[in-house]
Amino acid sequence: MIQTSVSSFLRIGEKRELKFATEAYCRKEISENNLQDIARTLRIKHWQLQQTTGIDYIASNDFSFYDQVLDTANLFNIVPKRYRDLKLGGLDTYFAQARGYQGKNGDVKALAMKKWFNTNYHYMVPEFDSATDIRYIGRKLVDELIESRENGIKTRPVIIGPFTLLKLADYKDGRKATDFITPFVTAFTALLTELGNLNVDWFQFDEPALVKDLSLDDLALFKALYQPILAARGSVKTLLQTYFGDIRDGYETITALGFDGYGLDFVEGVQTLELVQKHGFPKNAALFAGVINGKNIWRNQYSQTLELLNKLSNITTLTISTSCSLQHVPYTTENEEKLSNQVLAHFAFAKEKLTELAELKGILTNSDTEALIKNKRLFDGTRIVRNTELLKQIANLTEADFTRTPAFSERENSQKAHFNLPILPTTTIGSFPQTREVRANRATYRKGAKTREDYDKFILEEIKKCVQYQEEIGLDVLVHGEFERNDMVEFFGENLNGYVFTQFAWVQSYGTRCVKPPIIWGDVTRHQPITTFYSKYAQSLTQKHVKGMLTGPVTILNWSFPREDISLRESAQQIALAIQEEVLDLEANGIEIIQIDEAALREKLPLRKSDWFSQYLDWAIPAFRLVHSKVKPQTQIHTHMCYAEFEDIIKAIDDMDADVISFEASRSDLSILKALKANNFQTQVGPGIYDIHSPRVPSVSEMTTTIDNILAELPLEKIWINPDCGLKTRSNAEVAESLVNLIAARQAVIDNL
Ligand code: GLN
Ligand code: ZN
Repeated sequence: MIQTSVSSFLRIGEKRELKFATEAYCRKEISENNLQDIARTLRIKHWQLQQTTGIDYIASNDFSFYDQVLDTANLFNIVPKRYRDLKLGGLDTYFAQARGYQGKNGDVKALAMKKWFNTNYHYMVPEFDSATDIRYIGRKLVDELIESRENGIKTRPVIIGPFTLLKLADYKDGRKATDFITPFVTAFTALLTELGNLNVDWFQFDEPALVKDLSLDDLALFKALYQPILAARGSVKTLLQTYFGDIRDGYETITALGFDGYGLDFVEGVQTLELVQKHGFPKNAALFAGVINGKNIWRNQYSQTLELLNKLSNITTLTISTSCSLQHVPYTTENEEKLSNQVLAHFAFAKEKLTELAELKGILTNSDTEALIKNKRLFDGTRIVRNTELLKQIANLTEADFTRTPAFSERENSQKAHFNLPILPTTTIGSFPQTREVRANRATYRKGAKTREDYDKFILEEIKKCVQYQEEIGLDVLVHGEFERNDMVEFFGENLNGYVFTQFAWVQSYGTRCVKPPIIWGDVTRHQPITTFYSKYAQSLTQKHVKGMLTGPVTILNWSFPREDISLRESAQQIALAIQEEVLDLEANGIEIIQIDEAALREKLPLRKSDWFSQYLDWAIPAFRLVHSKVKPQTQIHTHMCYAEFEDIIKAIDDMDADVISFEASRSDLSILKALKANNFQTQVGPGIYDIHSPRVPSVSEMTTTIDNILAELPLEKIWINPDCGLKTRSNAEVAESLVNLIAARQAVIDNL
């Protein structure tokens, strides 16, 4: 008989209760007991929700105060010495690793944080060094298991598996992954023994690292870890859970290892079905088929899923599951008041996905035809009317639409003559501090307590102050300051047809931070000019050039919930055409320098290197080129990227064919410069010399040194001087001092040439 499973549920809560409670605790507004009570209430609510919906296999230990990787590390005593030395209580040592600690017990920064595979979630990077002493000491997993039992719910504890943990870790003191095989085996054996004593039925190892490119060494490491662990499992059944792709590099090896169950992703794992059909599936093992998309918010199309499940009918024990943890989708559509039921009917957030699992089981076991018919009706209906004109426009795009003329070097020369900027020109990335007043202006306007006129009056006033200030301190290329924007994607989405916005569709980005991505509902077009009003005004105030400021198509797409009925390529092209109109409008209104931010371009590179060009860059780079291909030779196109780690795709970045690119560099100790040089990078570059992620004010001398280091690698005439990202999160006081220092540093370098 078919059963249902959720590989992990979300934990932040229906109304982000965990976020607010944790933040209150960290501000010392509530006690640890208060916080623990709220956490327990949430866990029980989430288990009960799954139980009442009819989920057969419910996970526990999927709760986390901050991050599941950090939880696992701490469960096994992996806590760097500098945090132990603080001598704080258990929970506070945990938060010190997650958020850093500054107080009477010491001053330490948080652990490094990195993007979790191809999601927008970030995990805390575990550190392994010579003092690491892996032992099974944490009580969290067993405590939560017992808690679920006390509440009448049978759960399957889940943990991040040792292979993924070792693959994601940072190694110090010359340590390497293989040094930790034996201690991990011992620790997991101890854990499994305890679970056996507690009569635990199933235990789940999350091993998403298996969906990446795997070397023979990787597979050897996996085997070395799991052969002894599996031998020691006793009566506990082990589920190997993979997600975010298929396990093509190790399918045969992995399925031969003898886990009791395998969780495979049939949504993002494009080759999963083929792997199962071609190589077979172990007779005695259970298949947990991830068929409900844990990452996107659209309803499942039952007819398609049933067709897929039909192909798996020879599997003896089949359980249907989510493709990954539900932590990557919002809680429920039920609280959304601004979207019509017709629209909401097409969405399935976490709670609705539980119902989908239950309905699919119903259809398969007792032919719940009603659910099937209702679902069929939803998909048979016309959800949207396609924009035929736009489709035609896209179909008619030719190579010329993606190619800017004349070639870069010719443009570079004519722009140099035209703009006549000083050497090492200075600029900023766009936003200036979003002060309390700036945010209040937006909030009151949104509440309807302010007219559009008054709202704009305030913004124009801010722009004026900002432009005057930039002139005073002597920046070369100015910006208007972005006081009209809350968020670089939402702002554009609100001005484009085809987008819908939710009120509560929050998704955890890291720790207590959540984002609320807009949803691409239909074909995207621009209904009116978006930025010209403010940019034109800013330009009217000064003889210097003011950059127009736009978000690029790839970033807009990557930070939205995308459609599933058309390809990402097509969506990117639609957005690109809309932004192209905006670029041309800015140009027609006298804006001669236009920056098109692609902050998130690097973020969505596929997990497998082999897919980078064929599945992503092949449409992402052209989408950017489409945006600016039609501007005049003299119009200078800038772009900006937040992730500095693009050494491995440098050619593709150059191929965006922008005139200038700025990027984060101050924290990555400028390692990218050598790669730029080696690749003979032609685009002019502004490696950020001021780290805006920290409240620290950089001194003149340290920035002078940074510029000198840049000049040691790259030609003088290619370099721009700027901070490494927008200034919106900083205070006016910090920015004022830092920018004055930045300009002084540039001058000091010039004086020394
Ligand atoms: N132009 C944006 C800003 O200055 C860029 C932000 C970003 O890269 N995330 O805020
Ligand atoms: Zn940035």
